[in-house]
Amino acid sequence: MSDITVEITHKGSDVGSPQPDLLPKGFSRCPSCDRPVKADALQAALQVCPLCSYHHPISASDRLEQLADPHSWRTVAAELRPLDPLSFFDIRPYMDRLQKAQDETGLAEALLAGRCTIGHRRVALGIMDFRFLGGSMGSVVGETFARLVARAVEDGVPLVVVAASGGARMQEGILSLMQMAKTVVALESLSRRGLPFISVLTHPTTGGVLASFATLADVILAEPGAFLTFTGPRVIEQTTREKLPPGFGSAESNFAHGQIDMVVPRAELKERLAHLLALFEGGDTSGLEPVQPDKAPLSRGSRPFARALAGAKKLALSPRRWLFGGGQQD
Ligand SMILES: [Zn+2]
Repeated sequence: MSDITVEITHKGSDVGSPQPDLLPKGFSRCPSCDRPVKADALQAALQVCPLCSYHHPISASDRLEQLADPHSWRTVAAELRPLDPLSFFDIRPYMDRLQKAQDETGLAEALLAGRCTIGHRRVALGIMDFRFLGGSMGSVVGETFARLVARAVEDGVPLVVVAASGGARMQEGILSLMQMAKTVVALESLSRRGLPFISVLTHPTTGGVLASFATLADVILAEPGAFLTFTGPRVIEQTTREKLPPGFGSAESNFAHGQIDMVVPRAELKERLAHLLALFEGGDTSGLEPVQPDKAPLSRGSRPFARALAGAKKLALSPRRWLFGGGQQD
């Protein structure tokens, strides 16, 4: 014990000044269970607390690494850069905030978009990064989303989007709100082309993103414990003058009330997506047959698509069944 290096972090306190939080080196305190967690154990568990299963928010690049097959990623709309059309200034210029977010995340904007394969099936994949100005949807996020959808339509592949957002981007005013309409119109072209859309809601997905593209998918997944609501509980309580039930806005509550289709732990997310993509191809879901890389998805509106969609929704009701393929029960 004597040679343990101690690092001091500060944890908020309701009373008086913050108390120093003494933790051994290489440990961090879980914000959910409040217990020390070893950093390498957290890393091995994909940033899910091994003690209480709290799903830490992760970066878009970590998410990409977890979901996309190795060496399959090709970025879409990488040339787009945000501007400051309103010359917005609060306590700092908007351009300064953008620069800081770009430096800290290594991203040009809050949505990373590209083409890749998941379980050897081709998709157009979008991943939001909450670290970039709260994953807010400015003009470039909307345009990147639209170009990603256009790519899915051109390639004839499903769209998968992992959302994490505080909503519209205040600093772009009405231009930000217009992205809600823009993303919805973009999805209309995907729908007309008959291609499936799978949305993954992560902590937190709120505001204009939740109220536009993120909840317009054929299948909506969410990570456990993710907070998914248009606005915060306090605002709702103040507006409606009603006490909200415990767990309001959680992924589990949204699932119980039919707003989302399934809650999927992070460790199972890639396999679940691959299974859903297999269903939408009308192909083998046992994982035993080799994937046909260029097989087109079933057309939305067709009977096989409807059957696939029904099969996809059933996965939530028998949560372990998909692990073993369609023919076996757990
Ligand atoms: Zn924990």
